[in-house]
Amino acid sequence: MEKSFVKVPKMGPVIAIDGPAGTGKSTATRRLADQLGFVHVDTGALYRAIGFLVLEKERVEPAVDFVASAVDVARSVHLEFQRSPEKNPANRIFANGRDLTDLIRTPQVTMTASRVSSIPEVRAALLGLQRRLGCQGRAILEGRDIGTVVFPDADVKFFLNASVDERAKRRLIELEAAGSDAPSFEEVKAQIVERDRGDSTRAVAPLKKAQDAIELDTSQLTLDQVVATMEKLIVERL
Ligand code: C5P
Repeated sequence: MEKSFVKVPKMGPVIAIDGPAGTGKSTATRRLADQLGFVHVDTGALYRAIGFLVLEKERVEPAVDFVASAVDVARSVHLEFQRSPEKNPANRIFANGRDLTDLIRTPQVTMTASRVSSIPEVRAALLGLQRRLGCQGRAILEGRDIGTVVFPDADVKFFLNASVDERAKRRLIELEAAGSDAPSFEEVKAQIVERDRGDSTRAVAPLKKAQDAIELDTSQLTLDQVVATMEKLIVERL
């Protein structure tokens, strides 16, 4: 049993999907949610939204203390997801009514999200929201600590992994497709290693596999194979 075990009351099944970046987690989660008719909760988008807002604040007040600013933003902002089927992605993240979805995928926001996520008060501020979104049931939450902290009693838990080289390759393809000035493979790989290190060594809710999570190495699998494997296991267990 996890040390932080809590039973979060929920009105229906909750699925937890954790793992580092570049394992196919987000795409697989999106497809599973669509196929199963579940709500998709991308918890990384919450940390990214805080990171984005802190960077924005820093531009206006450069001298502001980073930690204090992140805690202030996390405690005061109203975050919500809304579905807009005509947009891509359809699952949109709003901060105080402003759609941030297309602004939170830059490398700078990615690294800042990782920084803010190591601050215990920021994590605490986002915990209630994540639980509220999941406890309505028929929800799939993806992140780093869903199976260990947010929903330790989730009905099915997965921990996706893949080699660093494979994850860097996938990330580079994504960046090229997004039309950004693509960095080199080595730069992308170094950023992934740095983010993994930060996420797995932080004191609060580090990235780690829950004892009862199903581990899936996606290095040699296509996305279709990942989704099919996960869907079969979910259907068997629910
Ligand atoms: O999943 P994604 O790459 O969008 O997450 C961005 C960052 O947010 C991660 O690198 C991690 O630091 C943080 N995060 C977290 N806990 C979660 C989800 C994301 O710490 N449940």
